[in-house]
Amino acid sequence: MHILSPLFGETAAKDLMLEFLGIDVEYDDLKPKIICENCHKSLLAWMELKKKAAESEIVINYIASKKTVKLFSNASNEAKISQLHG
Ligand SMILES: [Zn+2]
Repeated sequence: MHILSPLFGETAAKDLMLEFLGIDVEYDDLKPKIICENCHKSLLAWMELKKKAAESEIVINYIASKKTVKLFSNASNEAKISQLHG
C-alpha cells in the first residue's frame, strides 16, 4: 500500500501519519513509501475513532448544555420556593 496515494478523497496515509503519529514523510527522500496492510488498517481505524469522538463530543456538549439549563432552572425554582416560604 503506497502512503502517498489518497485513501479517501484527498487524504493520503501520509497525512494520517503526520496527524496521528507525528511522522512527516517527504515526497522526495529515499525512505520507503509503503505501509503494510495492518498499519494501514490501524490508521483508518484511528481516523474512524477520531471522527466518532468528534461526533460524540457534539452530542455530549449538547446534553451538558441541557443539564446546565436544568440546573439553573432548578436553582431559580428553589429561589422562588424559598421566597414563597420566606
Ligand atoms: Zn505495518
